[in-house]
Amino acid sequence: MTVKMAVPNKGRLNERAVELITKAGIYLGDDWGRKLNIKVPDLDLEVFFIRAQDIPIFIESGAVDFGITGQDVAAEAGVKIKKIMDLEFGRCRLAVAAPEDSKIALTGKLTDGVRIATSFPKLTKKYCRELGIKADIVFVQGAAEIMPQLGVSDAIADLVATGSTLRMNRLKEISTILESEASVFASEKSMADPAKKEGVREITDAIRSVLDAEDKKYLMADVPKKKLDEVARIIPGIGGPTVLSLAGNDDLVAVQAVIDGRDVYKVIGDLKKIGSKGILTVPIERLVE
Ligand code: AMP
Repeated sequence: MTVKMAVPNKGRLNERAVELITKAGIYLGDDWGRKLNIKVPDLDLEVFFIRAQDIPIFIESGAVDFGITGQDVAAEAGVKIKKIMDLEFGRCRLAVAAPEDSKIALTGKLTDGVRIATSFPKLTKKYCRELGIKADIVFVQGAAEIMPQLGVSDAIADLVATGSTLRMNRLKEISTILESEASVFASEKSMADPAKKEGVREITDAIRSVLDAEDKKYLMADVPKKKLDEVARIIPGIGGPTVLSLAGNDDLVAVQAVIDGRDVYKVIGDLKKIGSKGILTVPIERLVE
């Protein structure tokens, strides 16, 4: 049975999504950029390239079984789909902002009658309702930042990652409606089908193994045999290090371990201090535990 997966066809989420599934060992071929759907050879998988904003609806309707998109667009679509894995990219927040010199920016408060330009009308409306404010939502497809200058709105609700676009447009962030990142979502229907659920699980496991491997390094070093006790203290990696004897050498043993990228600098320094030689770190493609 073929499992259908949706991937953002362009925009901010496209590149990293394609990178993750490619690194996971799902071969999309050379012309994936031009095709709208790809049957992956040797896997019961068909990948569809769809706009990130449309993916939640396609998942809910059952047109595809699962897909990658932003939590923000999934929430705005208001659909009943299941989030099954966070992907640690596309991090942003849906924030309310207003011109730096406006009353809203100075007080940090929205008041009745405020006009808010946004591409996220449902989430913004719900947010204002929860605050007990009667707002006038102005729906725009993009470029919300320019709306206050055009006199179209008093404030905006837009996606912010670093805040530099807001600053460039002299807008001050006043509150957050929602935090978001890219995630894998699946339809309730395919999660209820054991064969499809297994197909989705295999692919998400493969993607997880890429994420787990990316911040890890494989370390190899020749360590003085009599300092082996200290190695377990120096190398905090997954499980204990592998220790192998070196042919024709009674003084040194080869040690191999998976370590966190952020520990590399210190571990190498500490291994050198105890007289280790031939220290080597290499990237890991996938880590399946
Ligand atoms: P697209 O409109 O296709 O470029 O996709 C935009 C999606 O990328 C959004 O729905 C968010 O999930 C995500 N994203 C991450 N950071 C940002 C950002 N700074 N601005 C806009 N979208 C972002």
